[in-house]
Amino acid sequence: MAHFSNQSAPKRIAVLGSTGSIGTQALEVIDTHPDLFEVYALTANNNVALLIQQAIYFQPAMVAIANDAHFFTVKEALREYPIQVFSGMESIAQIAAMDAIDIVLTAMVGYSGLWPTLSAVESGKTIALANKETLVVAGELMAEMLQKSHASIIPVDSEHSAIFQCLTGEPEQALEKIILTASGGPFRTKPKEQLTRVTKAEALRHPNWKMGAKITIDSATMMNKGFEVIEARWLFGLKPEQIDVVIHPESIIHSMVQFVDGTLKAQMGLPDMRLPIQYAFSFPNRIHSPWPRLDFATCTSLTFEQPDTEKFRNLALAFDALKREGNAPCILNAANEVAVEAFLNDQISFVQISDAIEVTLQKASFVIHPTYDDFVATDQEARIIAKEYISKF
Ligand code: MG
Repeated sequence: MAHFSNQSAPKRIAVLGSTGSIGTQALEVIDTHPDLFEVYALTANNNVALLIQQAIYFQPAMVAIANDAHFFTVKEALREYPIQVFSGMESIAQIAAMDAIDIVLTAMVGYSGLWPTLSAVESGKTIALANKETLVVAGELMAEMLQKSHASIIPVDSEHSAIFQCLTGEPEQALEKIILTASGGPFRTKPKEQLTRVTKAEALRHPNWKMGAKITIDSATMMNKGFEVIEARWLFGLKPEQIDVVIHPESIIHSMVQFVDGTLKAQMGLPDMRLPIQYAFSFPNRIHSPWPRLDFATCTSLTFEQPDTEKFRNLALAFDALKREGNAPCILNAANEVAVEAFLNDQISFVQISDAIEVTLQKASFVIHPTYDDFVATDQEARIIAKEYISKF
């Protein structure tokens, strides 16, 4: 265990997306180590009640609610406290760039994470990245900006944290390829023909991980793994052929790195998001955690399978978008966000999620070297195309 002197001040953390699954678990990590970490800012999209409760408990310097309609509710509830209250996406992007902050945790869902994350990169922050859509949508732009700034990214996604941990201490040129593990989700053993009839409740029942609704559906369709392939490409500077996916239903190995000598390193542990969150906060140190350990008396075997991309078409669509590059992953993401929402609202069936994405990828305008404005335009166009397709059902 690393030694910390009493004099060292706690790291000040901005938790963007504090009311979501990652956000609440991050607050648990911070609460477990009050000597090391401190909440400086909390931001949420719509969940006013939980944001207020968190603010009263953690007493951050500031909070921001993305939806302006909730500003006065939050302001009124916190009027007796020395907490600054803001609203709107712009204020969240400004918070992400503040000098007083040591670490920005980006835990908001979907495309909405792009602006604040780019703002944190521009201002040279240490970013604990939990918003994978940022790298999916604008990976190349992010990579360029990272090179020009002093910002550093520490991945929070369990697979990328695993790879990051496996690479720590290794020379850069030693990496041959990475192997992302996937649980396979709730429909791993279901025959392909039966996927047309699966319900929302079944899709929301993930076997190993407790997560928000959007990412749980993405896991059931395996789009989550497709996104993670794209995320890994930019995080670790890989070629598409250096990224493999293997199904590992137990979710104990969180991912692996294969080195040029043929050696494999795997990072293992119980599926518990508090661990990669804590590692991102404590890096380069490793600190004690009080949570359960893996017990080999109950974990007696680890198994592996090849992914079925005919059954889980989203994984193939994601690899295609990655190979096309340009704004193709941005189209993929926008269509997926619209399709998942439509599935959650009972507008389309499970397999129609892939149909909607495939059609949108074919129809949306392709841009080979997109700027930030191109991404904004692509996101809007792709959403319109996907919604138009879905409205026919
Ligand atoms: Mg993951």
